[in-house]
Amino acid sequence: MHKCIVCGNRSIKTNAKREGVRYHGFPKNDNLSREWLKVLGIDRCHKWQRVCSNHFIEENYRTGKKRFLLPNAIPQPYNRNGFIII
Ligand SMILES: [Zn+2]
Repeated sequence: MHKCIVCGNRSIKTNAKREGVRYHGFPKNDNLSREWLKVLGIDRCHKWQRVCSNHFIEENYRTGKKRFLLPNAIPQPYNRNGFIII
């Protein structure tokens, strides 16, 4: 089971309710992962933690048979009310 560290989405719930939610690990690249933390308003993260696809826009994905998160994708700034700020 994955849990989104930003909004608390859990795969056990979202599988039933929201199909297509994906969980992404933090980037291996240090600079990029710092960018993620900054926009998400988080101090630090662990490798096993996940960010769900609700925080990414369509342009962050490579389309095709399988959707991949682009290697340089950065999540959208998030506020605690649960809305993505664009
Ligand atoms: Zn989330």
